[in-house]
Amino acid sequence: MAILVTGGTGYIGSHTVVELLNLNKEVVVLDNFVNSSPEVVGKIKKITGKEFKFYELDLLDKEKLQKVFEENNITEVIHFAGLKAVGESVKKPLEYYSNNIIGTLILLEVMRKYNCKKIIFSSSATVYGDQGVPKYVETMERGKTTNPYGTTKSMIEKILEDLYISDKEWGIVLLRYFNPVGAHESGLIGDNPNGIPNNLMPFVQKVATGKLPELSIYGNDYPTKDGTGVRDYIHVVDLAKGHINAIEKLNKEQTGVYIYNLGTGTGYSVLDIVNTFEKVNNIKIPYKIAPRRAGDLPELYADPTKAKEELNWVATKNLEDMCRDSWNFAQKQNK
Ligand code: NAD
Ligand code: UDP
Repeated sequence: MAILVTGGTGYIGSHTVVELLNLNKEVVVLDNFVNSSPEVVGKIKKITGKEFKFYELDLLDKEKLQKVFEENNITEVIHFAGLKAVGESVKKPLEYYSNNIIGTLILLEVMRKYNCKKIIFSSSATVYGDQGVPKYVETMERGKTTNPYGTTKSMIEKILEDLYISDKEWGIVLLRYFNPVGAHESGLIGDNPNGIPNNLMPFVQKVATGKLPELSIYGNDYPTKDGTGVRDYIHVVDLAKGHINAIEKLNKEQTGVYIYNLGTGTGYSVLDIVNTFEKVNNIKIPYKIAPRRAGDLPELYADPTKAKEELNWVATKNLEDMCRDSWNFAQKQNK
């Protein structure tokens, strides 16, 4: 009875594996290291003091994936593996569609073959598109996505819904993450993208360590409280814990399709992030105001009520925790 975690050495996957091991769950992890490194395996073991099986493999390699199911009694899958850089997806759509969509299709085919029909999928708030209001609720229809990355998330949600229509033995949870930030309190694992980061918090971390000279704030003339963009930042450890509640929900219900927002329900502006990071870490973040970034919405945040009511899950960490833990992790990295 093992839980397979695809993409389990990545940012959110590694934190989720830690939470699963802390609960003494049997975990099998796979990753091809396209966006993570082998050292994470040892770091997870160091944090938890627990062992788990790891497979270096690409989801597109169906034969190797079948071996994982043959060698282990996989009862649920948490599916994180995927490419996630919005800007890169615009430049490399075929790579994104191939990796994310075909990778998921192969995973689902293999799961079906081995009669493992419970899956938790990493979706994103991006599937809502522009709803014209900032607060996103699960009852809203999926919206128009603005880049291939977002389209892969929307398409995979639809594929999973169609799968359930065809076979009611499947149990499927679609988790729509808002903006994950922060890191494990040990500082051993966190978000450490290669090259120049796209996302706000990794960029702030690189400015704080002096690896980048200043932050560009994309627009200060939005109709928000201080003119800068507002998002729902959620601590990655809270997010990881949401997956435990989702597994419990699946094991209770056994079958069906369930969709949940995982966010705090509170929006913070770019300037809130900069000011809080400076205050809790006692460090200056030089910044300049730059033009708006194409495709950005002014403001969005989750309505987290459904996750609270049905999963018994709420985010517990605040913006100070997120900024402090991000900086603690950044200081321990050497890139
Ligand atoms: P990440 O890049 O850190 O982790 C993804 C992991 O999947 C990486 O370790 C990568 O090496 C692996 N991977 C990618 N393609 C693979 C393949 N074909 N076979 C095997 N392994 C493969 O990303 P993350 O931030 O941890 O995100 C995890 C999931 O959550 C992704 O699906 C992402 O799209 C989704 N998500 C992330 C965010 C965010 O802001 N971080 C927001 C919403 C949704
Ligand atoms: N942002 C910014 N400078 C950066 C990166 C991001 O001002 O270098 C802003 C961006 O415009 C948005 C917020 O920070 O308002 C969060 O952006 P991120 O890319 O982290 O997440 P997403 O756009 O996916 O919500």
